[in-house]
Amino acid sequence: MGNIYEELGVRTIINATGPSTRLSGSIMSDEVSSAMKAASEHCVDIAELQAWAGGVIAEITGAEAGYVTSGAAAGLLLGVSACVTGLDPGRMNRLPDLTGMKDEVIMPRSHRNFYDHAIRAVGVKLIEVGIADRFSGAGVRDTEAWEIDDAITDRTAAIAYVVNAHSQPLLPEVVEVAHAKGVPVVVDAAGQLPPQSNLKRFIVEGADIVCFSGGKTIRGPQSSGILCGKWELVSAAALQHLDQDIYAELWDPPPSLIDKETLPGAPQHGLGRPCKVGKEEIVGLITALRMFVEEGDQARAERWANSIRSLGAALEGLPNITVDMQINPGRPVPMLCLTLDEEKSGITGVNLAKQLIKGYPCIQPGTGGMYEGEITFGPMCLRDGDVEAIGKRLSEILGG
Ligand SMILES: *Cc1c(COP(=O)(O)O)cnc(C)c1O
Repeated sequence: MGNIYEELGVRTIINATGPSTRLSGSIMSDEVSSAMKAASEHCVDIAELQAWAGGVIAEITGAEAGYVTSGAAAGLLLGVSACVTGLDPGRMNRLPDLTGMKDEVIMPRSHRNFYDHAIRAVGVKLIEVGIADRFSGAGVRDTEAWEIDDAITDRTAAIAYVVNAHSQPLLPEVVEVAHAKGVPVVVDAAGQLPPQSNLKRFIVEGADIVCFSGGKTIRGPQSSGILCGKWELVSAAALQHLDQDIYAELWDPPPSLIDKETLPGAPQHGLGRPCKVGKEEIVGLITALRMFVEEGDQARAERWANSIRSLGAALEGLPNITVDMQINPGRPVPMLCLTLDEEKSGITGVNLAKQLIKGYPCIQPGTGGMYEGEITFGPMCLRDGDVEAIGKRLSEILGG
């Protein structure tokens, strides 16, 4: 009924996992989708629109400059390529051939993850530093800042740093050793919202480039992201991202984003050109970002907590489970954790997850604890009516 996917014959899902790309990201508000529709009705100069968006991002993040990317991963690619080339159009044109350029990026070993493909795509070699023996339980230490310092050479283009609650060494320590040797720090903060103070925090802590996802908590278009940081690096990123199919004589980029006078000439299409961003995404992302900031952490947390409480109520009385509503101020996003008595119910956590995903409606829960009989439900992508549907489906599976 009024659902386009039904018309298309494509299954929709109840997304209790959260805004993951595999599950199509978050659900945009009406305001954001209307802004995108309005944006689609006129043509503009993309560089001018990016310069405007960059101004809003700079104001909200406290960074010197900002830019809209097609996601946090694209931001890593653009940010690292900016660190490699600086504002040299000749170098931009030669990427990913790094002959004669700094061609290494240092990363604490425990920060490595599959998104670092976006960094390696620039052509650089990742230099892993340190040993995170705390994760094995055999020890207590992780990479330390002096080890990063020790690894910096004249080939080091940047330090890549991935933020989460357990990241070691702390960002300010990494910034200190990097900046002492003139090396920029690129921060992957893709999913680090809320708290919304994180929009400013990594910049305050000295990061040179910070990347956020637009399609996660901000609830912007799924293929959008934020790049913010030092003007020179953002400008170098823009130069390698913007479409350059124009006569040099007619090329007149907005000075707040690109200072044409200081360049020997215009670069051609750059390494970032395949990560293009449309006017709809730019307008949609800025609309969503403003709404995210306006709502504030407290109102957002309360909205999410209400959704978790009503899910808790919908699961009341179901047999062979314990329900733990994890709603507390120390936890940025509340969630409901369901622990299954695997013996009594005769169902394993893995089997419950499978039944939820394979059944009708398709329900995608958090499955990180399924081998221990734990299934979690998050509030971020739930729609009206989803809570009741989850309760009904669980009661079909568990009985009662
Ligand atoms: C989600 C995520 C990304 C990718 O973000 P996109 O906006 O989907 O490109 C990169 N790094 C981390 C740590 C993430 O969680």
